[in-house]
Amino acid sequence: MSETVSEPSAPADPRAPLRVRHDTRMRLLTVEAITDITPRMRRFRLTGDMAGFASLGHADHIKAFFFPEGVEPKTPPIGPRGAEFAPGERPEMRDYTPRYWNVAEGWIELDFVLHGDGPASGWAAAASIGSTLVIGGPRGSLVVPAAFDWYLLAGDETALPALGRRIEELPAGAPILAVIEVEDEAEEQRFETKAALTLRYVHRKGLPAGNNSLLLDALRTAAFPLGAAYAYIAGEAAMAQALRAHLTEERGFDPAYIKAAGYWRLGVADAHEDH
Ligand SMILES: Cc1cc2nc3c(=O)[nH]c(=O)nc-3n(C[C@H](O)[C@H](O)[C@H](O)COP(=O)(O)OP(=O)(O)OC[C@H]3O[C@@H](n4cnc5c(N)ncnc54)[C@H](O)[C@@H]3O)c2cc1C
Repeated sequence: MSETVSEPSAPADPRAPLRVRHDTRMRLLTVEAITDITPRMRRFRLTGDMAGFASLGHADHIKAFFFPEGVEPKTPPIGPRGAEFAPGERPEMRDYTPRYWNVAEGWIELDFVLHGDGPASGWAAAASIGSTLVIGGPRGSLVVPAAFDWYLLAGDETALPALGRRIEELPAGAPILAVIEVEDEAEEQRFETKAALTLRYVHRKGLPAGNNSLLLDALRTAAFPLGAAYAYIAGEAAMAQALRAHLTEERGFDPAYIKAAGYWRLGVADAHEDH
């Protein structure tokens, strides 16, 4: 696999995030194991040829392909503009976070929120051992150096895989404040880490996902450690934007050290955006 480092051209700032491009590969994988890690979060272990797979950033994503009824999932050829499909065979595509993987053993694990609507959530609800899934990528990684005084992580269930990776991957003693919105106590996940983690969950308890101010309220009242922080925010797009605005306008965060990703948008299918 070839990798090219495209940024930064002048690596003066040891905190500057680094973008790494990967060759895009398509893989046809088979479901080997299914685990409900919480009632609304289903983990799939998929097996197949993982040669060349690389994911250097906690917030990397693969594209998962969901084919129309009756179309056999298969890896498409890659043309100049990406994957090429025959007319009528174009699948829906959604982004998922590589949670764990092993190239030599040929497997990857993806965690799906069972939110109940859409081709990806529908696939996750219905798939069984032996089901197949085509994935592509990651096409690139954003690597945020562990060079900050502390790390703020915030998001909803869709961000749990990315937040979990960051919590597990940061070095021993790195101070992390993680504030995560889930439905209720049963949806809380715990993480193995040597970092100095403060983990707070907020519960919707029936409030609508993507249409509440729980995370914003939690951040507003949170006491932050001193020093330079990197903030990673992900989840419903309006929520991510509101949290970003709070950090830059009211808490003095440097916009260069915030990544706020809209992982989905309330009421809109196939929506994702970065701020
Ligand atoms: C970089 C990136 C990484 C991601 N990683 C993960 C991951 O690891 N695991 C994961 O579960 N998701 C992840 N997501 C989010 C996931 O891609 C979206 O939730 C996606 O919309 C799901 O597709 P769908 O087909 O189920 O629903 P869609 O067809 O996209 O949407 C159908 C309806 O469901 C609503 N909806 C979508 N997602 C949710 C939700 N979570 N809760 C409530 N309503 C929702 C939409 O507003 C819409 O009304 C990631 C997104 C990005 C951009």
